[in-house]
Amino acid sequence: MRLLFLGPPGVGKGTQAARVSTALGVAHISTGDMFRHHMSEGTPLGLRVKEIIARGDLVPDNLTTEMLLERLAQPGAANGYILDGFPRTLPQAGALDEAIGAATLDAAVVLEAPDEVLVGRMMARGRSDDTESSVRNRLVVYERETAPLIAFYHDRGIVVKVSGKGRIETITERIVGALAGLRRA
Ligand code: ADP
Repeated sequence: MRLLFLGPPGVGKGTQAARVSTALGVAHISTGDMFRHHMSEGTPLGLRVKEIIARGDLVPDNLTTEMLLERLAQPGAANGYILDGFPRTLPQAGALDEAIGAATLDAAVVLEAPDEVLVGRMMARGRSDDTESSVRNRLVVYERETAPLIAFYHDRGIVVKVSGKGRIETITERIVGALAGLRRA
């Protein structure tokens, strides 16, 4: 299966994408993890994006798309994948369609939770970009840049909405169950 996970920061996309990718036996491709890897290794890309990510802004589309498409071209992605954190803008979604073909994606899983749950989770995990101002900025950027993708994929008929509230295990079961229903349909 070829899936992407959409949802606001703090909704548990990364956690669920990791668990569902294991359950389905597909690759988990997280642009956030890839950027964090570049930053911890001090690569030129890592140095370039460090301050952008600390502010909670989006890395420019061209840098993000190039990094993601390189990863998709690697053999690990051949048996399917979950894209976690990509696309995050309409131009990124367009670039993805162009690269893999609009009919290739099986589903866009949209995880949902109220803002107070999101902020609480981000403050609790304490990642270095989880300062209060960055978190607030990421929620604004999400609404402006990323939320429109839900309508974009909804029009294509591939949106699967799942509640991101509750226990981690329960949410994984919800997602896997919703995807199984899709395969039978
Ligand atoms: P979260 O889900 O909490 O926002 P991520 O790990 O997905 O965390 O992303 C961390 C940061 O990496 C983002 O705030 C953004 O700066 C950058 N980033 C990740 N994916 C993208 C993307 N597709 N486009 C632009 N920036 C991105």
